[in-house]
Amino acid sequence: MNKLRMTILSLMCVSALSMIAMPASAQKKEVVKPVNTQKWKKYDVGDIRFHDKAPRSEGSKIYSELIPNPKEYIAQCAREVLATLYFSPKDEVTPVNSIYYTLEDKEGISAKSGGNGRVHIFYSTRHIENSYKGNDKDKVLFETRGVLLHELTHAYQLEPQGIGTYGTNRTFWVFIEGMADAVRIANGGFKGEQDRPKRGHYTDGYRHAGYFFVWLRDNYDADFLRKFNLSTLSVVPWSFDGAIKQVLGEEYDIETLWHQYQLAVGDIKE
Ligand SMILES: [Zn+2]
Repeated sequence: MNKLRMTILSLMCVSALSMIAMPASAQKKEVVKPVNTQKWKKYDVGDIRFHDKAPRSEGSKIYSELIPNPKEYIAQCAREVLATLYFSPKDEVTPVNSIYYTLEDKEGISAKSGGNGRVHIFYSTRHIENSYKGNDKDKVLFETRGVLLHELTHAYQLEPQGIGTYGTNRTFWVFIEGMADAVRIANGGFKGEQDRPKRGHYTDGYRHAGYFFVWLRDNYDADFLRKFNLSTLSVVPWSFDGAIKQVLGEEYDIETLWHQYQLAVGDIKE
């Protein structure tokens, strides 16, 4: 791969970050610092295969205009995800041998399936078309990158042990989806405060948990997301409180932190 192409690609993958700083709403400006992927430059993110299954769709045309080299784009986003979830390639990184990425003309947004190092991510051309309403290319790129960061997190993240599975245990599910959105938030894949769900509880998963985890990173430990991800290796059976105690210290508990978070973001008064 030539160097110039790689540089252009890196810019593309982070270009959506600038949108965070746009005063689109009355919210305060939030600038997300790009994660440093230096340690992951030579890391094998897995063999990426791109398959456009709906080449005649409008969504496919928009996608190919915005992302002329999907394999490089996906690989760069994968490195951002890895750098957010781990300290370095020396960690016990979930191995991914192959990523099969498809554009498909069907309902839904995007989803990851597969396992044992063979991952399939589908992305809906209908969703691309919906994001494009109003001819807003930046919006499509922003959304595509955000969704990709979320799905790629599922490929590389560690999973809780000793508490069942994604389908059978709510804690497992909250952690998996919460971390995927936390990685997306941490990399500027959502529009900051504007996209933060108000009230609710972290056990509602997704952004409810994701924004909370990023807040813990910003206020308690800059490596919180990495340590939280890695806590699944040693906190067995895994629990939110067990992981919080291991990462931040025995004196902390998850419910008190959640209460502090709600106060800090202004969702509750006392
Ligand atoms: Zn997910």
